[in-house]
Amino acid sequence: MKDIKSNLIYIIDINKYMSNDLPITKVLNCYELLNTILSHMNNFDDFIRTRLVNKIFNKVVTDYLSKSVNNSNILSGKGTFIPINYCWYCNKSNDLTQINYCQDYHPRRIIIVCKNKICMKIAYTSYLQESLNIDKLIILSKPILIKECIIPRSNGTFNQATINQDYLAIIDNKIHIKVDFKENDNIYIKCCPIIKLWEINKGAVKEQFADLILDIKKNGIRYLPFFNKIDTIKIQNYVQNLIDDSNEKNLFI
Ligand SMILES: [Zn+2]
Repeated sequence: MKDIKSNLIYIIDINKYMSNDLPITKVLNCYELLNTILSHMNNFDDFIRTRLVNKIFNKVVTDYLSKSVNNSNILSGKGTFIPINYCWYCNKSNDLTQINYCQDYHPRRIIIVCKNKICMKIAYTSYLQESLNIDKLIILSKPILIKECIIPRSNGTFNQATINQDYLAIIDNKIHIKVDFKENDNIYIKCCPIIKLWEINKGAVKEQFADLILDIKKNGIRYLPFFNKIDTIKIQNYVQNLIDDSNEKNLFI
């Protein structure tokens, strides 16, 4: 830890001499230098925290997180008969943590790993890929702000529902929001197209959906940086579909 700290101070000092009008070669050299130093940093939490130092640190860390993981390294989340005493990637038994599948009901899938940078990256990548490929969900880096809304039911009525704020669902290449609603003391799950929710809700909630759709159109979906490049392209295509769809209906004119 002491070594990491002294390295960091060294990097921050170098950083003092950087400015926006540096020639690109100097910026690249600094990127390479940081890349080399940070590659020796093993604790995941310390590594992630360096993103906050400035834009170049952020880029080095984000580039590392979004690099593809070899398919043979992918871990699979488990919901029952879970070995919890060792890291599922490196087998070490200290400094363990768990990645929860926020979309699951009990028994919720989890992955157990240690806080080593590589183990954590593989765990997060596995979780995101499984969520996207099997559950058709994009896990967001920031939760959706809307908590509750009205949803349409297949019998033509409407219900109050609670929104799952941590992810968006992809069904037939369209972006949906997953909600829970209660009826006769039972809890049901439903996925609703984001455009439909904008159409049927009223007042402040309608405005919140309009803001969310505009934000997606303008900035894309803010997904976790652990998605690999192919997944990122898939997500961008989904967003394009959403934009094409909303243009058709002249949503904002
Ligand atoms: Zn490990």
